[in-house]
Amino acid sequence: MLGRKLIEVMGIVQGVGFRPFIYSLAEKYELRGYVVNTSWGVEIDVQGSTAKITEFITEISNNAPPLAVIDNISWQQLPVSGYRSFEIKKSTASSGRPVPVTPDTATCADCRQELLSPADRRYRYPFINCINCGPRFTIITGVPYDRLLTTMQGFVMCPDCAAEYNDPADRRFHAQPIACPVCGPQLMLIDRAGIQLMVEDPLKTAQEQLMAGKILAVKGLGGYHLACDAMQEETVKALRQRKIREDKPFAVMVQDMAAVRQYCLVTAREEALLTSSSRPIVLLRKRPDCPLAEAVAPNNDYLGIMLPYTPLHILLLAEGPAAMVMTSGNVSEEPIAYRDEDALARLGGIADFILTHNRDISHRCDDSVTRVFREQDYVLRRARGYAPAPFMLNREIVPVLACGGEQKNTFCLTKGRYAFLSHHIGDLENMETMTAFKQEIALYKKLFDIEPEVIVHDLHPEYLSTKFASEQAGIPLIGIQHHHAHVAACMAEHGLDGKVIGVSFDGTGYGNDGHIWGGEFLVSDYLDFRRVGHLAYVPMPGGARAVREPWRMAVSYLSRTFGPDWRNEYCLLDGIDESKLELVQAMVEKKINAPFTSSMGRLFDAVSAILGLRTVVNYEGQGAVELEQLALRAGNAMQPPYDIDIEEEAGIYLVNLPITLRQIIRDVTKGTNVSDIAYRFHVTVCAIIVRMCRLIRRIEGIERVCLSGGVFQNMLLLTMTFDKLRENDFHVYVHRRIPVNDGGISLGQAVIAGERRRNLCV
Ligand code: ZN
Ligand code: ZN
Ligand code: FE
Repeated sequence: MLGRKLIEVMGIVQGVGFRPFIYSLAEKYELRGYVVNTSWGVEIDVQGSTAKITEFITEISNNAPPLAVIDNISWQQLPVSGYRSFEIKKSTASSGRPVPVTPDTATCADCRQELLSPADRRYRYPFINCINCGPRFTIITGVPYDRLLTTMQGFVMCPDCAAEYNDPADRRFHAQPIACPVCGPQLMLIDRAGIQLMVEDPLKTAQEQLMAGKILAVKGLGGYHLACDAMQEETVKALRQRKIREDKPFAVMVQDMAAVRQYCLVTAREEALLTSSSRPIVLLRKRPDCPLAEAVAPNNDYLGIMLPYTPLHILLLAEGPAAMVMTSGNVSEEPIAYRDEDALARLGGIADFILTHNRDISHRCDDSVTRVFREQDYVLRRARGYAPAPFMLNREIVPVLACGGEQKNTFCLTKGRYAFLSHHIGDLENMETMTAFKQEIALYKKLFDIEPEVIVHDLHPEYLSTKFASEQAGIPLIGIQHHHAHVAACMAEHGLDGKVIGVSFDGTGYGNDGHIWGGEFLVSDYLDFRRVGHLAYVPMPGGARAVREPWRMAVSYLSRTFGPDWRNEYCLLDGIDESKLELVQAMVEKKINAPFTSSMGRLFDAVSAILGLRTVVNYEGQGAVELEQLALRAGNAMQPPYDIDIEEEAGIYLVNLPITLRQIIRDVTKGTNVSDIAYRFHVTVCAIIVRMCRLIRRIEGIERVCLSGGVFQNMLLLTMTFDKLRENDFHVYVHRRIPVNDGGISLGQAVIAGERRRNLCV
């Protein structure tokens, strides 16, 4: 029987080879009609045998191209008309809204094969790509997504490329960044003075320099990397010195899975993540016999590994070092360099040579950082390869711009049920990051055609994102509490409605009472929250300085535990200058420049200082990271928790630490193995969470727990807590695709604001 259907496919179906796929499917089922891009998807009008139309629709969802994400397929019956053929219609300019842009995607297997085939016309061409792979987001300069509005604009296609680009049957049909050695970008090697080396084969010279122990800056998709041979201890140490990065681990890139297995222990799920088209850095357990230079990740049992994601990476590793350090191209904590002049100015002092090319990077986008927790992804930094793909919310909300936090900033724009969480922007403390923040907001608004009706910011008055929000004239503002946003982000990720127990543990977040929160137990829904428990307040001597100098928090907690004369009895913190100790002790007692905090991150700091692990840190959270590493080496994993003291005060449960700390210090003075103490401290924090959740459940009758906040980047704590809560019959929700740290709060802010708008609270 002859029939006709008008089919609408919604989701990421543009710029991913979807129309050619539909074209060949229509041929297979002998259907006539057309396919066309529309504002939010693809429209297909087909006519033919009704049975075949049904099969056609089934196959659309079952066999869609690798990069397509189908959110919804709907169709309606139409009267039969006189189509003679099937065609790909040009999207008309008047169809209005811009075409969504997909994330940058790792070189596909087909392109890799061509890249390494001497007979192929793109043999050893470092910019090979096709509709299934290559740069996307990082090269766009405007909307709609079209070659002329990318940094490929200056490269005129040669006849061979043009033929492929225009052939619906070709893998490069409408692949905007299509290029070949004849018409596309070219590699060059320059020295630290910016002078181009006149070598025949820059790639080969670059490989030789790497093997000879030199440091190279290498231009990638979203910025420059600093690369060197990961086997050469001296070189890696030199890189640390020049980059001023003392001990934060470096990421390493290796050719394939066989190589990964030489250095790390890998599960099937970790392999899937490593080889996914997003190609993130994956944190893996180092093998005990790992032959890489110790300076790659000093005192760390984990290693950040990634596989090559551009043709240039594949080629560099093919004949270069077996493992390359690939760390972001910057000095210390600055944002990574992505513009050529800037790279030379900033990286010239670090790198011996710069391997670059003449395709501009339009958007800075860092490597994404992930790990696997309980057989599922756990994304810690969401950037290249993930953004700007949207999340689906469980309901429609008004258009919102959520400005995020200060550290690890991301922002979030919403439209209908879509939430566009930005890529990792960085710490909004310097001009350059702030400029990027503003530019990227403007771009996302244009890209997804969003005019926010509400702007959301953190409650912290000094955050630059808060200041930015308050400068936006004429749009209502909503301030959202930091830890509520953390919990709401976790709820939104799992589509939860109703109330949950939110355990929100991090370093810093501005509280409703003006104190610094961070060890919080909330009863929360999207609309609002109640703070039902927290770590008892202690002074944080020196404010932000206490973050860099954990010994200050140790003084605060020791003073709380033993009184102001604790030093008469205990010989702790002996590396610290006497006069400094006295000064900080005075700050604590007189409460001068010592804001109150309930932060769990600061408690980890204090304990790491008390154990003599870290009195000063080189990056935030280093104390906690090393405490976890230490605990992982514990000989005794069957220890009970230290004693816990929870008191109720006006309906709020306060966790007092002195009892616990007394026992820890008794162990320290007894000479107990510090790994065992560190482990037992983790067991205790886990026990605090379980005890509190049980108390809250008894009163509120809530069984669902969301774990959020940067402290849950600690895998040992996360694992223990997840298991113990489940043993106690809680339903436990952890982050998966949204960062558990402050990179996730903009999404939480957005859904809270959306819900308040719906309830007309604002
Ligand atoms: Zn490809
Ligand atoms: Zn060409
Ligand atoms: Fe936070």
